[in-house]
Amino acid sequence: MDVSERYEQLIAFLNTHLPTPVHHEELADGSLMFTGGSPGEVVARLTKVAVVIEQFAVQWETPYTPVMRPRRVGVVKWRRLPESTVMNVVEQLIRGARDARLSRYITCQLCGETKPPEWMQDEDICQVCSASVLGSVH
Ligand SMILES: [Zn+2]
Repeated sequence: MDVSERYEQLIAFLNTHLPTPVHHEELADGSLMFTGGSPGEVVARLTKVAVVIEQFAVQWETPYTPVMRPRRVGVVKWRRLPESTVMNVVEQLIRGARDARLSRYITCQLCGETKPPEWMQDEDICQVCSASVLGSVH
């Protein structure tokens, strides 16, 4: 199998092994970025030489500007390893990144829903509940 076939195979692998739904886009540098999960759980970046797996994370740059700040968990130089090894390692990294992301989810004390940290107003109350509580004050 040549390099371009392996590259295509990796695209198919990421599409089927990331948490669903999977969105992918081509970045300006020609690499592919895959985001798995809604809300996002795992981000994978594929270049001609490497697969980078990241835990999805968002930070609020201002109270109105969420910025994606994924946390890198592993880089695999896929051309240097046998195909089956690449698949195994990438699969483990995806699982680890997803577990790490989900472990940061918080259960809202008011509505009881478990939500990603960027949807929380503070450690106890989600933004939806916070907004409705504030709204009922007047
Ligand atoms: Zn809530």
